[in-house]
Amino acid sequence: MAFGFFKSLIQKFSGKPVDWDELEESLIRADLGVPMMTRIMTALQGREDAEKLTAETVVKVAREEIIKVLPRDSVTLRPLASKTKVILVVGVNGTGKTTSTAKLAYFLQRKGHSVMLAAADTFRAAAIEQLGVWAERLNIDIVKGQYNSDPAALCYEAYQSADRKNVEFLICDTAGRLHTKTNLMGELGKVKRVLAKADAQAPHETLLVVDATTGGNALQQAKEFHAATGLTGVIVTKLDGSGKGGCVVAIQNELGIPTRFIGTGEKMEDLAFFESRQFVEQML
Ligand code: GDP
Repeated sequence: MAFGFFKSLIQKFSGKPVDWDELEESLIRADLGVPMMTRIMTALQGREDAEKLTAETVVKVAREEIIKVLPRDSVTLRPLASKTKVILVVGVNGTGKTTSTAKLAYFLQRKGHSVMLAAADTFRAAAIEQLGVWAERLNIDIVKGQYNSDPAALCYEAYQSADRKNVEFLICDTAGRLHTKTNLMGELGKVKRVLAKADAQAPHETLLVVDATTGGNALQQAKEFHAATGLTGVIVTKLDGSGKGGCVVAIQNELGIPTRFIGTGEKMEDLAFFESRQFVEQML
């Protein structure tokens, strides 16, 4: 993981020149992706002191190169002038999708916005129930379907209801089963098409939830979900755990998808805007 990379590099090579092979291996383990790794290596190789690089220099150069790739400011979630903004939350089961949907609702609620939820993971009865519990706790309206009902129809119905009630944000939790990937991607594509019938621009945001502890898998997930749903951002969860989220650098660098929020725990308030400089500092 990225954290281990920088820390162990400094510990291991403190006062001695850095070994290039070990440096390359450490960078691979940091989940920053091959293009980012190559970029850092090229920046290091181009230096006059390349033959006797210290770990401190490596960390400084890596930090500079990563910061160049990440956007300076996270794009905030502003409501639309006269209609409901629809946020579709997608991702693989277990990444923290349902929890992040609820946290996002709380985040927006705290900023004074009105929010409605749609429990469109109709494939898992537990997910519908789980989101229902959060909605009750937050005192937020929720549109729930029957187990196995059509998620696209549910999102459409939720949009109509939210718009009628002048709700500023509708957040739709979606299914994330992996064992039938083709069906899942087809289903998410349909959700998008049906929502677009209600409002041509909807969903206005499609956010992918990735788990920082899954490392390189997150990039692959982003590629697949992006192809199927056209992502506008990432929520990276479990940054309170062992993963330090190098994957979000790879997702930004290789797919151009910015990380918008970070999840740092299981509680409602454990969601924050992604701040690139702060993120990189913590990663180091
Ligand atoms: P889903 O299957 O993707 O909807 O995942 P859930 O929302 O059910 O979350 C799976 C597990 O991860 C639950 O136990 C959550 O409490 C936990 N979780 C979600 N986000 C975070 C986070 O940022 N940090 C930690 N430590 N746990 C999280």
